[in-house]
Amino acid sequence: MKTRKRHSNESGYVAERLNPNRRGHKVVIYLAEAQGIDVNGLRYATVCDQHGQVQGWPSLPKARFAMKNPDEFCTDCRNEAKGGG
Ligand SMILES: [Zn+2]
Repeated sequence: MKTRKRHSNESGYVAERLNPNRRGHKVVIYLAEAQGIDVNGLRYATVCDQHGQVQGWPSLPKARFAMKNPDEFCTDCRNEAKGGG
């Protein structure tokens, strides 16, 4: 698996940020439809690029909050945070 992957040239890319809890990994926001992500019709999707978990959001502020707090949507991040990684 590639780690230091750049996402900014991908379809539907909105923003990316280093995962605050997992060094060297990112959380990315996409326009879900443009990226081909199915999140039940929600406009935005956040992706944990370490674990591949995806969550849909109806608004960009909510997606940005999740980007900064991947424990909000990635159960693997949440479990690792609780378990001490
Ligand atoms: Zn994760």
